Amino acid sequence: MSCSLIDSFGRRVRYLRLSVTDRCDLRCVYCMSEDMIFVPRKDLLSLEEIDRIARAFIRRGVDKIRITGGEPLVRKGIMDVFRNLAPLLAEGALRELTLTTNGTQLARRAEELARAGVRRVNVSLDSLDPARFAAITRSRSLDLVLSGIEAARAAGLAVKLNVVALQGVETEIDELMKFAHGRDMTLTLIETMPLGEVGADRVDQYLPLTKLRRDLERRWTLVDVPMRSGGPAHYVHVAQTGGKIGFIAPMTHNFCEECNRVRVTASGILHTCLGQEDSIDLRTVLRRSESDEPLMAAIDRAILDKPRGHDFVIERGRPPALARHMSATGG
Ligand code: SAM
Ligand code: SF4
Repeated sequence: MSCSLIDSFGRRVRYLRLSVTDRCDLRCVYCMSEDMIFVPRKDLLSLEEIDRIARAFIRRGVDKIRITGGEPLVRKGIMDVFRNLAPLLAEGALRELTLTTNGTQLARRAEELARAGVRRVNVSLDSLDPARFAAITRSRSLDLVLSGIEAARAAGLAVKLNVVALQGVETEIDELMKFAHGRDMTLTLIETMPLGEVGADRVDQYLPLTKLRRDLERRWTLVDVPMRSGGPAHYVHVAQTGGKIGFIAPMTHNFCEECNRVRVTASGILHTCLGQEDSIDLRTVLRRSESDEPLMAAIDRAILDKPRGHDFVIERGRPPALARHMSATGG
């Protein structure tokens, strides 16, 4: 067995997004419906199984792991996952261990995360306006998120803010940018993708980033920079603030040719493409054998079948590209 994962298009997979729960304390309108059906608890990977899967991927050459969800910090015992992987960071088998979070639990977790070797976190923050934040997340947790961001910074974590580009964001994009750049945080804008029924028509949510960028360019000088973060974002430097904005535009710019990542859901399903149905049930494989060899062989087979890319389209009345929600796959 070679120890790298290379798909049939020659792309090397070295980045795993590992979901630890499909549950969440928020209900963002682009991600979930109000009445979600969650995976039965018995079907969730145990903390030990999460660790086993992470280690199998690391043995196959993955060197970056992002813990995600649902909201990863609501998973009971989640800090064990970070603590158990910390030695692999220290010895260099893992280059980066990070997480994407909505920030509501960060205030009480930031220091522990930093102690476990986490160096950066992505925090989702779609609005600084309490009413708009409440409308988007269907919750009143803005202050919790803001204190979580401060706690992360105080713990020495580099924070990147994720903002989903929803219609209406134009009215406060300058504020969000100034908030981020004033705190030395990169702001990443993400186009909303048609994943799962959310109880709204995505046409009413979707804002192409090409449009948002043109709007920003009326007031700010954006200079493209070659910086890459190992992901699909394209960055610009904002001359007036000195900060950066990342654009993740799966709808207007298909970046699949550079894809280096796969996702494992909280129930152990490996998805080699965010936008296709292809999947392999790693949980069954790992529960069948104490040896990790079958698990690694299943991973190898799945990578060979990694699809070329997604074909997302947002049109009025059109069903989602996939029934699966982002919170289920692990965003
Ligand atoms: N709960 C955590 C959070 O919100 O950061 C982690 C999981 S969430 C599914 C990961 C990321 O996916 C977030 O930045 C969220 O904004 C984004 N996301 C969720 N649904 C999306 C969609 N339909 N299109 C684009 N991004 C989406
Ligand atoms: Fe929860 Fe994150 Fe989805 Fe919002 S985007 S509902 S915080 S999982």
